[in-house]
Order: sequence, then C-alpha cells, then structure tokens
Amino acid sequence: MDKLSDIGEFGLIEKIARKFEGHDGVFKGIGDDCAVVENEEDYTLLTADMLVEGDHFNLDWQTAWQIGWKSIIVNISDIAAMGGLPNWGLVSIAFPGDIEVDFAEKIFDGMAEASEEHGMKIIGGDTTHGDLLTINVAVIGKVEKENLCMRGDAEIGDLICVSGDLGKSWAGLELFRAGKEGYTDYYLRPRCRLETARKIAPHVNAMIDVSDGLSSEVRHICEESGVGAEVEKEKVPISEKTRETGKKLDIDPMKWALNGGEDFELVFTIPSERLTRIDKESAIVVGKIVEEGMYIIDGEKRELGAGYDHFS
Ligand code: ADP
Ligand code: MG
Repeated sequence: MDKLSDIGEFGLIEKIARKFEGHDGVFKGIGDDCAVVENEEDYTLLTADMLVEGDHFNLDWQTAWQIGWKSIIVNISDIAAMGGLPNWGLVSIAFPGDIEVDFAEKIFDGMAEASEEHGMKIIGGDTTHGDLLTINVAVIGKVEKENLCMRGDAEIGDLICVSGDLGKSWAGLELFRAGKEGYTDYYLRPRCRLETARKIAPHVNAMIDVSDGLSSEVRHICEESGVGAEVEKEKVPISEKTRETGKKLDIDPMKWALNGGEDFELVFTIPSERLTRIDKESAIVVGKIVEEGMYIIDGEKRELGAGYDHFS
C-alpha cells in the first residue's frame, strides 16, 4: 500500500480532486489558490489553510500573537493571488487543555490585527480540544470578473515575475532550527501582497502566491497552463539579510528561495509589452514562459526542482 509520503501532498490532492469534479456554478474547484464560484456580477473566492503545531509554527519560537497573525496572512495571500479582496473569515481551533487563556486570547489578537489591516472580518468558527494546537482559517472573498487571476492563464512568451525577495522566511526558520540568532523578523511576522495584487491584477495573465517556494509555484503555473518555463537563477531576488543568514549557516540561500516557501510574495506572468503598466518594484523579472519543460538557467540549463512538499 502506498503511503502519503510516496505520492506527496500534490499526488493526494490530485486524487481528491477527481472525486469532486464538475459541480454546477463552480468556475474553478480544486487546483488554484482559491475556489472560484460564479455570481452574476463577480466571483466569490473561497480558501482554507491549516497551521499545525510543530509543522507550521513552534511554541518555543513564536508568540501566540505571531501564530494568530500568520494564520490569517497565509489565507489572505491566497485571496490576493486570485486578484481579489478578503471579506469574511471563519476560525477553527483545536487547543490542548494546558494552554493558558491569555495565550489563547493573544492568538485572536494577532488574528484581529491581521484581519483589520486587510479589511477582513472574522465572523465565526469552531473551538475544540486536540493534542496539538491546530488552527484552520477559512476566508471568503470577492473579485471582479475582469480581475480574476488564475494559475492556468500563462501564455508562451510571457515574462515570469515575482513581487519581492524570496527565501526570507525560510532563512528565519533555519536559524531557529540551528539555535542561532539573526534575521528572523520576516519568518515571525510574514506579510502578504494584497495591495500589490490588486494593482497588478488587471494586467497579468497567471498568478499564484509563494507558499512552497518558487520552483513549486512555477510548476503549478506550468501544469495548469500547459506550458513550460525557464527561470534565470541570477535574477531570483534574495535580500542581503537572507544572504548573510545563508553564510552564517553555510547553506546556499537559493535553496530557500526555490524550495523553501512561506514568503507569500506573488509569482505572475505578463506579456512584456504590459510590463510598463505596473510598478517596477512589484515586478522583478526572473524568467519566461516557454513551450515545454521546466528549467533553471545557471550557465547551463538544468531541470527545475519540485519545491516544498508536506509529506516528503
Ligand atoms: P495553497 O498552497 O495555495 O494554499 P494548496 O497547495 O494547499 O494551495 O492546495 C491546492 C489546491 O488543492 C487548492 O485548490 C485547495 O483548495 C485544494 N485542496 C487541498 N487540500 C484539500 C482537501 N483536503 N480537500 C479538498 N481540496 C483540497
Ligand atoms: Mg497559494
């Protein structure tokens, strides 16, 4: 019998998707950053993301407030990746019995601040007991029909762009794992690019957010769009702080940019003639969409790796 670690997270999602195909009124079900339901005037966006103690946060490293903040940001990032705006949030939490009330409240303080900052309202959820602190947030949002950005709309010849530095979150995680001090700010308080996404949505073809690393996100765009990609390694933006962390830990930070994740930047494709329509700092060109194959160019042309997988 195959184990989940044999087929991976995405192998399992493919199997799930086959069981739930072809619902009426669903413009896009499983397979993008959000599900998209068609209304007369616009689309409703629905997404859910779960954080599990030990896997997505660590009680020795993060405060309750930071855990709450992150649980909202990861979801709003998926709404941003579709070009939309978040409206409503539902929060379900399993608490171990020994969690202090003050700690539990601070989780919700972090959630409240992240929600308010992005114009979202938490309107419900569920509370239960569990051995590991587990937080699931579901968000409902909206997007105008003309602004919807899907993973599957990349076209051959498009430029592949990212909205900011990559590897900055994983750098912090690796510092904590190594028990060293340094640049952990972004890991502890990640951002999402909602404002940027709203500005660029009318101009881009495909879009996705970086939750599992650039390689994985480019792969999703290629698979959904039926195209290939070439990424130029030297163009992948990595900040000075992330590079310094790489040196400190003797790890190539490119690994974090390509296969780490949780940067919550946007990866999008755009025809070159439309590039001038968006702010320069929001569109760092890292490659182009080609007919087939997924490559990274680094002097020579090599296969692009797979990115982060929760079961591998
Ligand atoms: P993201 O990284 O953008 O949050 P995921 O990789 O988690 O996206 O999910 C990819 C797609 O698979 C999404 O459309 C999501 O809704 C769907 N999906 C993931 N897990 C499940 C599940 N257990 N049941 C149904 N759909 C799922
Ligand atoms: Mg996503």
